[in-house]
Amino acid sequence: MQDSAHGDLLPFLARGGEMGSRIRDCDWTRTPLGPPQQWPQTLRTLVAVMLGSRQPMFIAWGPARTMLYNDGYAPLCGAKHPAALGRPFSEVWADIIDVVGPIMDDVYRGIATHMDDIQFTMRDRYGYSEETHFEFSYTPVTDGSGSIGGMFCACNETTERVIAARHLRFLFDLSDRLRKLTDPATMMRDTSRALGMHLEANRVGYAEVAPDNTTLLIEHDWVDGVLNHLTGRFRLQDFGTDILTALDAGQTVRIDDAGDLRHPESARRAFQASGAGSGLSAPVITEGLFVGALFVHQATPRRWRDDEEGLVRDVAARTWHAIERARSERKLRDEHARKDEFLATLAHELRNPLAPLRSGLGVLNAHDTSAAAAEKVRDMMARQLAHMVRLIDDLLDVSRVSRGLVELRKERVDVKEIATSAIETSLPIIDANNHRLSVSLASESLPVDADPTRLAQVLSNLLNNAAKYTPAGGHITLAAARDDHQVVIRVVDTGVGIPQDMLRSVFDMFTQVGDAEHGQGGLGIGLTLVRRLTEMHGGTVTAESSPDGSTFTVRLPLAEEPRAGLLDRTEATTPVAAPAVPLRVLIVDDNVDAVEMLAMLVELQGHTTASAHNGVQAVSVADAFQPDVIFLDIGLPGLDGYQVAREIRQRPVGAHVLLVALTGWGSAEDKNRTQRAGFDLHFTKPVEPEAVERLLVRLAHDRATHPPT
Ligand code: ADP
Repeated sequence: MQDSAHGDLLPFLARGGEMGSRIRDCDWTRTPLGPPQQWPQTLRTLVAVMLGSRQPMFIAWGPARTMLYNDGYAPLCGAKHPAALGRPFSEVWADIIDVVGPIMDDVYRGIATHMDDIQFTMRDRYGYSEETHFEFSYTPVTDGSGSIGGMFCACNETTERVIAARHLRFLFDLSDRLRKLTDPATMMRDTSRALGMHLEANRVGYAEVAPDNTTLLIEHDWVDGVLNHLTGRFRLQDFGTDILTALDAGQTVRIDDAGDLRHPESARRAFQASGAGSGLSAPVITEGLFVGALFVHQATPRRWRDDEEGLVRDVAARTWHAIERARSERKLRDEHARKDEFLATLAHELRNPLAPLRSGLGVLNAHDTSAAAAEKVRDMMARQLAHMVRLIDDLLDVSRVSRGLVELRKERVDVKEIATSAIETSLPIIDANNHRLSVSLASESLPVDADPTRLAQVLSNLLNNAAKYTPAGGHITLAAARDDHQVVIRVVDTGVGIPQDMLRSVFDMFTQVGDAEHGQGGLGIGLTLVRRLTEMHGGTVTAESSPDGSTFTVRLPLAEEPRAGLLDRTEATTPVAAPAVPLRVLIVDDNVDAVEMLAMLVELQGHTTASAHNGVQAVSVADAFQPDVIFLDIGLPGLDGYQVAREIRQRPVGAHVLLVALTGWGSAEDKNRTQRAGFDLHFTKPVEPEAVERLLVRLAHDRATHPPT
């Protein structure tokens, strides 16, 4: 065999793995080097050293710079191996000869060279263009005659190391930059641009899965001018199942050539539709769900490397979390600001009615106030007080509703009844603004299973708003009709309208259109209450606006058919006949004014009162006074209202007395608590005089017909 023959004959060719055997097998007579037997001693020694070494090495020998290389060097040649053996260096490395040729010329002139890092753009090593890095030493070698016969090179390819270090630097810089940013949009824009420039890509952006889970939203992307922006909303299904399945599974989609038929058709179509010839998309998975992707596009085919894929995945994960954090911080800040604004509005709105109330008192206290003037002042004070009570009620309600403390007392009612009661409540403000109110209620029954008080609150809030946000002399329409299995209630006004971009957010807590200065005496919670209460009834509420005004639409599920007994409720609230016997009424409250006012009211009805201002006193006065009814405040010094109630129930007086709790707390739990303590009734402050009057009339009537034994 020639192989062993060369080996036997020429000991310098004896070793060297694959390349040793290739060198032995090569027909060197067809190269300028001629047969190995004739090679000069220096070349032989060099070849022996090269074949014996693990480090990548090559020799270029003779004027033609004919190449010999070892096993370590073969992978560096890529597709050029093994054809490179015995061929002139300038032919093998034609694509980088402009850089490396002059260095080699110097070596042939006797100048040794060492380079830690040289960069080449190679085009034909793998059939595509690539950035490469090398570290090498070129050493001139003399032949037998003493002149330079060729050169010897020991080298390493450092491409991976150099690029990894560069990616790392990029990631450091990026983290640094992101730390200083607080605006999520700027974070996305900055990262896209930085990554695009770093990878020399044509387009980079973030795509987020929208809450509806069927669309993908691209809010920001960066382009270098070669590709167009891709911002917008896209249907997820248009990306094809192949891409989506991969992203869902947390895999990066890597497309080197969108025209390559080996890629699934849906993926190619999606890429081509976006104008991209190649790309990388790294998914972001949060709590097991695919929530979005960072994509990098190139207009032309590009062979993406593993390190580039790794980098894009890394950037996607890091920045996504930073962006999410910035978003929640921003949300918190906004909520904080809204809360501050709300507190300012609250202070302003609560103080507003106080000024006329105070001056009203001044007028009433003056000696020379005429009866007519006093009457007018009292009307004004009643109005202002009602306004203030409404504000505070809304405030307490919204807090209770959002904490889930409000329980609906549902019954079968007709929406028309509720509409009528809401109109009654809102009529004063509608009239005060000189609006015309049109009411259109379907003639058929519109039964719903609802809490009448709460639903009336929803409608009167909408009517109040219509009146508030419509310039004087406007037109308000309230319409209710059946629509399939729903009842649709519309409140339409001819007012100032609502900007389109606010139509959803007006239902958010503390949201008001424009600044507080232009507000109409509200807290920005009415619509929050409307939405929450409507939703608690299984319904929806939406707002529309046109240049002619606003329309609020409430939809509620219709109940089957109206039941008998719709009127039971009204019966309970209708006052019964006039007082039959005067009652003995004990009023207990640590607020002396509150006691006095209530006592005056009760006495005006012909009853006798006694009072107490703390728990202990309450018990002893009850023993001495033997009242028929006790209005008992809960938050008392010493013994609280619950303890007083329990104590009184233990005594003879407790056997027949009607115990009425007076409290600022009105949730179902509060009511249970008063009931457990022995109370008969629970009144939430401020108590309406009419409610007290109705109660006493009925009790007096009861006592007349069934005196306690
Ligand atoms: P407010 O107490 O400020 O009225 P709401 O929650 O009831 O609070 O309403 C929120 C905001 O929505 C209002 O401040 C107002 O800007 C706007 N709005 C509500 N109803 C109407 C309407 N019918 N027409 C125009 N704007 C309205």
